[in-house]
Amino acid sequence: MEQAARANQPAKLPGRSRSRGAGKWALIVVWITATVWTFDQAPRAPDWKLVVLGVAQDGGMPHLRCTEPPCADARAGRIPAEKVSSIGVVNRDTGAAYLFDATPDLPAQVHALTGGRVPDGIFLTHGHIGHYTGLMYLGKETIGARDAPVYATRRMADYLSANGPWSLLVKDRHIALTIVEPDRPVSLPDGLRVTAFTVPHRDEFTDTVGYLIEGPRRKALFIPDIDQWDRWDRNIRELADRVDIALLDGTFGSAQDAGARDMSQIPHPMMPVTRERLTGARAALWFIHINHRNTERGRAKDIVREGMEFEL
Ligand SMILES: [Zn+2]
Ligand SMILES: [Zn+2]
Repeated sequence: MEQAARANQPAKLPGRSRSRGAGKWALIVVWITATVWTFDQAPRAPDWKLVVLGVAQDGGMPHLRCTEPPCADARAGRIPAEKVSSIGVVNRDTGAAYLFDATPDLPAQVHALTGGRVPDGIFLTHGHIGHYTGLMYLGKETIGARDAPVYATRRMADYLSANGPWSLLVKDRHIALTIVEPDRPVSLPDGLRVTAFTVPHRDEFTDTVGYLIEGPRRKALFIPDIDQWDRWDRNIRELADRVDIALLDGTFGSAQDAGARDMSQIPHPMMPVTRERLTGARAALWFIHINHRNTERGRAKDIVREGMEFEL
């Protein structure tokens, strides 16, 4: 601008000294007006944010049959209860919203995300109870949704189509299934992109995926369930260096958190192992999908809280 101003000056012409001062002021006014106008008119990146809608593992917290802390404290109202692990992505300008996983807490989570409107897409990770059974709230017994868009892998979609009561949701068009191919991005409006990727997990009825969620400004990984990082053909550290936010499986902080359950039957990476892998990574690490017995609850600073928001 300074250069432009200088170029516009009628430099070194005699007898113009008074008008030169006036011209300079005029230029300053034009520059300020132009700057304000440009700032106002410049295209702004679409305003997407990621919202944490639930923290706990599949069974929630307080958990059935758990009478000790933290479940007892939550029942007594001394600490907040925790909804089942889920996130949403919402556009502040248009209100467009996408839900990741349909948990047993879906009604409250949809209300938190959209005020009650069925989201513009529901992306499922896999066929364990905390991750898809919330679809039941879309059927005839409840709101009778019309073609609610549900994104799932081929195996997950086949499972829903072939097994009641889910098959009725498909047949009566309460939900409309879109197949997501692993590693093939799904482009959504206003610069949002979602890519599923396969992760190793107990795949009894369906396969399991995590999601890469790319907004105009930031990228997030969402992997609520994975058996072990070493059983994966990908390197979590490399992925974490390519994103800004990593929301990862925080089921257990240590082997003791599984209580009497046989850990080999319900494998998950321990939180300290995940922290070590991601030390120095570009992504900020946040744990989600927290077991009710996880003793890091309430102490660890890297466990998500319901209602947390991240810019995308
Ligand atoms: Zn789970
Ligand atoms: Zn699972």
